[in-house]
Amino acid sequence: MILGILKEPQDESRVAFLPEAVKTLLSWKVSVWVEKDAGSKAFASDELYQSIGAEIHNRNEVISQSDLLIGIQPISEVEISSMKPRAVLMGQLNALYNPELTKYLIENNRTAFSMELVPRTTRAQAMDVLSSMATVTGYKAVLMAADLLPRFFPMFMTAAGSITPSRVLILGAGVAGLQAIATARRLGASVFAFDVRQAAKEEVLSLGAKFVDVEGAKEDKSAGGYAVEQNEEFLQRQKDTIHEHASKADVIITTAQIPGRKAPLLVEERTVKVMKPGSVIIDLAASSGGNCALSQPDKTVEINGVRIVGVGNLAAKMPQDASKMYGKNYLNFLKLIIKDGNINLNFEDDIVQGTCVCHDGKPVSSRIQI
Ligand code: NAD
Repeated sequence: MILGILKEPQDESRVAFLPEAVKTLLSWKVSVWVEKDAGSKAFASDELYQSIGAEIHNRNEVISQSDLLIGIQPISEVEISSMKPRAVLMGQLNALYNPELTKYLIENNRTAFSMELVPRTTRAQAMDVLSSMATVTGYKAVLMAADLLPRFFPMFMTAAGSITPSRVLILGAGVAGLQAIATARRLGASVFAFDVRQAAKEEVLSLGAKFVDVEGAKEDKSAGGYAVEQNEEFLQRQKDTIHEHASKADVIITTAQIPGRKAPLLVEERTVKVMKPGSVIIDLAASSGGNCALSQPDKTVEINGVRIVGVGNLAAKMPQDASKMYGKNYLNFLKLIIKDGNINLNFEDDIVQGTCVCHDGKPVSSRIQI
């Protein structure tokens, strides 16, 4: 069986497998074909892949000859049509938000897996690319804020006077938010955090941050640990609380998301206007609608001296460790799928079933509604 590793598009610097992970794949008795230059932006040369036993080929060869074709970003419909008829495609295909591609895969009798569909269960944790990439994103968001901020993060007592620590407000304490709290604390900031899930409170406190309470959040135990949409009354109370905290904050990092919905609006225009000139907002939800009313995806805008960064793919800004984590997630997932050097799909397994967009043209995951 040939397992093909794709080079990602121009604006993506990660690669699905670094050479270290390819070594494991080769030990499973599969041939590994790597697209030319696939790892170059993650500092893994073609020579390095070759030195451990992988073959380097051009894109057409990798796509048309692989039995299992793996990347991160989706590939085009034309390229999918040139895959072998029974080959399996894997990537972060964004299957729920990209109905055209999903429909195309189904109509063309394809078998495809989309890594963002990995169920969020304890057994699947080691395969969860959303969590590992959120870890990178939360960390990098703080470094980006620290770089833009015209102040120190930590407190200093120096001969040139005392510097008070920066105040950082984190909105949404999921995987990215908790990593952002931990990173900002390590840099010495005074950190406040908010989430609608009460379970997040304990985690926030254990990281040494203060929890901002807004009473009356709706929770749903059947949402699998995720947040649910809140009513207007709660959202208004929440915006008012954030407004009060924002005027004292040097940095706001927003991470609030609701799966399958537009991100909740938490920082209004009036709130940005009361913030101190020089302060920074990093909106990690910018590509799903934004937590800040003034953020724009992949852009930095400045309003009254407040810089608002609408973050897109931050994980790509740390390609080496992000690729390492991605590859490890893939290896753990592929252990369920590769047996004796061949593809063996067991749809009785809830992780295989839950991650599969379609098999031989039939939708498989119950989350695919076409
Ligand atoms: P996410 O990216 O969907 O959302 C980020 C955070 O935003 C969440 O903590 C959410 O509660 C919060 N949020 C949503 N609406 C909000 C609002 N109006 N105000 C403030 N905060 C709001 O979530 P995530 O980080 O991917 O994960 C959330 C939780 O899912 C985790 O903390 C964990 O409990 C669970 N999880 C489980 C697994 C697993 O078991 N495999 C993996 C990852 C996450």
